[in-house]
Amino acid sequence: MTTLHLVQGDITEQGVDAIVNAANSSLLGGGGVDGAIHRRGGPDILAECRELRASRYGKGLPTGQAVATTAGRLDARWVIHTVGPVFSRSEDRSGLLASCYRESLRVADGLGARSVAFPAVSAGVYGWPLEDAARIAVATVRGAQTAVDDVRFVLFDERAYEAFAAQVRRPQP
Ligand code: ADP
Repeated sequence: MTTLHLVQGDITEQGVDAIVNAANSSLLGGGGVDGAIHRRGGPDILAECRELRASRYGKGLPTGQAVATTAGRLDARWVIHTVGPVFSRSEDRSGLLASCYRESLRVADGLGARSVAFPAVSAGVYGWPLEDAARIAVATVRGAQTAVDDVRFVLFDERAYEAFAAQVRRPQP
């Protein structure tokens, strides 16, 4: 049984088995959560990302997929990098956003991680409307088959926290 927790704060301060990074497909760093994770986690994470680019992911990590590295100096064992879709008004990419959560949990299961912290993937620079991003995140994690027993959504500001809280409070069908 997976328990969902909501935290308002900085994901890089979480003590969990795995911290999920809203990465971009280059895996070589960016702004937002990605920048914060690399800044605080130190150079080991980027070194492993470079190795992944030189081996399995020569063309980058595809949207909707996930891959793990060490967590460097973070208070976690792994960082799971996932690439959210850029929001589009003309194309429904919600399947790819759901895939980020599902694939991250699948990678977590493969590692034996029991506690995982997620940011609001795609809800920053990638422009996904917050309420919808929260709905997809909560529904997908609730529906996932996983041995992870503690899923923590870590929301940076109050608006994001409230959007996720509204979804968690919604009665389940
Ligand atoms: P994306 O490119 O997938 O949209 P971003 O990093 O731009 O990713 O934003 C994703 C979400 O993470 C946004 O809601 C943003 O406010 C939030 N965020 C940014 N920094 C942090 C942090 N240190 N901890 C938790 N959430 C963060």
